[in-house]
Amino acid sequence: MPRVNRFGFPITALGPGRRLAVWFQGCALACRGCLARDTWDPGGGADRTVADLTRLWTDALRAGADGLTVSGGEPLAQPDGLAAFLAAAAGVRDDLAPDADLLVYTGHEPAEITDPAPLAHADAVITGRYDVTRPTRLIWRGSANQILTPRTPRGRARYAPYLDHEPERAPMQVAVNDRHVWFAGVPRRGDLNRLRRELADRGVTFEEVSWRS
Ligand code: SF4
Repeated sequence: MPRVNRFGFPITALGPGRRLAVWFQGCALACRGCLARDTWDPGGGADRTVADLTRLWTDALRAGADGLTVSGGEPLAQPDGLAAFLAAAAGVRDDLAPDADLLVYTGHEPAEITDPAPLAHADAVITGRYDVTRPTRLIWRGSANQILTPRTPRGRARYAPYLDHEPERAPMQVAVNDRHVWFAGVPRRGDLNRLRRELADRGVTFEEVSWRS
């Protein structure tokens, strides 16, 4: 049963179009400057059955989702849960919206991915550790070493325009509830300090953050 940090729909900052995003819980890679330290603890988050996650995906597709993004945390730290969820998601997608794509983020380098099974249904993957010393303007990537690789005809059609795309601003979404501020997306250097200042101007201050700036 996958351990999940959170999920959201519609997310427009982690892949093309309106997407269901699912953040897996747990990561042992400990990249310096990681922006998602709240996802490191494998005991954090909550268990979600594949059936629950697939229901979310089905609802998202019925609401017009263009794709699914699985991020983290480190999804490949839960290979069985990832494989089962992606297989179920691909089945629903094939029935309801054949153009919708499945994108997976992993901090592992391509050479470290020796078991193809967990990513068998991924249309595209973004691989590689976050390297704070190598900033990038490439869309959806946090550092210049990270590689966006389409893996299927659907993935190649969907992601070809984005492989070298450098938007003026990194796409980001921010949601505020009474206790938490969530962001989705891959911010560039300085974006989170800017966000902190803009929220402070609106009276929102942080006690604790998931990143170290
Ligand atoms: S950047 Fe990603 S891979 Fe690296 S420690 Fe953070 S969650 Fe893990």
